[in-house]
Amino acid sequence: MSRTLPSIDRWGSLEGKRVLVRVDFNAPVAEIDGVLSVTDDFRLRSALPLFDVLLERGATVVACTHFGRPEGRVDERYAVAPLRRCLESLRPEIELLENLRFHPGEEANDAAYGASLVVGFDYYVNEAFGASHRAHASIMVPPTLIPSAAGLNLQREVATLLALLDSPARPFVAVIGGAKVKDKLGIMKVLAEKADVVVVGGGMAYTFAVSEGRRIGTSLFDGSFVDECAALLEGGNVLIPVDARGLAAGSAFGPDGGADDVVEFDENIPDGFMGLDIGPSSIEIFAAALSSARTILWNGPMGVFEDPRFGAGTEAIARAIAASSAVSVVGGGDSVAALSSYGLEHDVSFVSTGGGASLELVELGDLPGLRALRESPWN
Ligand code: AMP
Repeated sequence: MSRTLPSIDRWGSLEGKRVLVRVDFNAPVAEIDGVLSVTDDFRLRSALPLFDVLLERGATVVACTHFGRPEGRVDERYAVAPLRRCLESLRPEIELLENLRFHPGEEANDAAYGASLVVGFDYYVNEAFGASHRAHASIMVPPTLIPSAAGLNLQREVATLLALLDSPARPFVAVIGGAKVKDKLGIMKVLAEKADVVVVGGGMAYTFAVSEGRRIGTSLFDGSFVDECAALLEGGNVLIPVDARGLAAGSAFGPDGGADDVVEFDENIPDGFMGLDIGPSSIEIFAAALSSARTILWNGPMGVFEDPRFGAGTEAIARAIAASSAVSVVGGGDSVAALSSYGLEHDVSFVSTGGGASLELVELGDLPGLRALRESPWN
């Protein structure tokens, strides 16, 4: 199977042409001085290089995006007005269509809705890597109807992630964390095959701990996956935490919680206590694995890093990755947020924008939106 995605380069001059660009502008917004405003414009800024190439070639560019979860209905809370204001300040030439998810046809991948989007357009570009694991109309239908191509970021993001899996410099160390084992078991199975070491932290590590017969108190746990976790550990290259930091069940989270409430545990967590971060010995073992790595993939925090009392594990991992000279790819909203809160986002090789999409690409090697571009009859 050829994995090459059609590129905008083959189109040449776009003088007088109209180009529809599917972007992922699903950015955080908050009210500032009474006006709903984008609080982190990273996603909008990342589309600018593509917009600039298209504008330079003479195109009229119209962008379209989903925004929040209006569930197929017009819901003013999810109107794109704040995104438009932000885009206007960056590139006033670009028009932005209203939220694609105001129409039920978007998430239903409805052919007629998809066809209505491309009316009046000559070309379509998918620059929404973070939405390309979803078979939604704006991703799937345009490539069947008009000449279509992958955007610059989409190309780069896919190439980076696939290169990591195809020919990683070794040792290849993958670090997987986050809340739920259910969400990441698939990718962990793939990584256990491809990587030399898979480091597991976060809430999901406790299901692994139970599969080894350890006690975990009231920590996060999913009984349906104990056997699969046990099987992964049998492979011998999956490292789980050997100690933890946490709280007595029912203690307050967040800024109201006191440092005195924090308890350190060895590999067993007593009844009535909850693990919320990896402990100091785990940090040491994980950092040692990372220090010799030549390729690193990180997705998911090591603890409840939003509460500073349980951010030490995530911060130590972020610092170990930033200090490493390995090719390092960081994906997932929480890991990227953690990395930038420590000011380290420029110390890794690549920050992947699409959390779910990057997990699915690593796990399955392809995405519906990429297939749609490759299989376009216009190629
Ligand atoms: P995910 O979306 O699966 O990557 O999970 C990210 C979330 O996992 C973050 O909001 C963390 O607060 C949470 N998390 C990490 N470690 C733990 C833990 N030990 N217990 C509960 N939640 C956790």
